[in-house]
Amino acid sequence: MIPGIRAVLFDLDETLIDDFPGLERAHRAVARRLRDYLRGRGMEVNEDELFNRITQLDDKMNLQRRYIRNDWWPLLLEKMNVKVELPPELLDELTWIYWKTFADNSRPYPDTKPTLEYLKGKGYKLGIVTDTDGTRGIKEMRLKQLDFIKNFDVVIISGEDTARTKPDPQPFLLAAERLGVRPEECVFVGDKPFTDIDGGRAAGMKTVLLKRRDWGVRERADYTIKSLAELRDLL
Ligand SMILES: [Mg+2]
Repeated sequence: MIPGIRAVLFDLDETLIDDFPGLERAHRAVARRLRDYLRGRGMEVNEDELFNRITQLDDKMNLQRRYIRNDWWPLLLEKMNVKVELPPELLDELTWIYWKTFADNSRPYPDTKPTLEYLKGKGYKLGIVTDTDGTRGIKEMRLKQLDFIKNFDVVIISGEDTARTKPDPQPFLLAAERLGVRPEECVFVGDKPFTDIDGGRAAGMKTVLLKRRDWGVRERADYTIKSLAELRDLL
């Protein structure tokens, strides 16, 4: 058990909601739209290659904390040596297709709701600290679609509610302040060592790495778990 904790703060993506099906379909939808656009300009590009490249790029951009999708699409074609200027309205459309498909296909993990209800029942205050999706308003739209959101006492979208994103301590500290607790009375639960864990630590919180996959980076969490349900052993 972790002593002295009054609030449990969570990351959203790949912590509370399973993004893998949403990501895969979003990548597929963008690949298709881009292939069709290029075909209309007389350029044949393989859809599967586009899909694979987008998947690789997504991880790479996340590691670099570059969240603005409109910047991704020209970079993708550059890497594939496809020389074409994409019009701004197509960049917007691709980004919209990405987020719409993603939101429609991402679901809470089976243990998300029961775990939140367990923590609520134990009297913990609950919060979410999630980074902006790069385009203002998209994350808010996605959050509104989640029915478990009503369990939370505070939701911070870093990069929108605060100037800086994770791993800067700013959004973590704002969440604690809004909950009326001290940072050391918070535990932060997240899947990414380089944003959630480094940021939670920098803010002076206890940290729990929810290891959904290996990012190949240094992990400095106080505790490591494989599923949300394991939080019952800690809290
Ligand atoms: Mg995450």
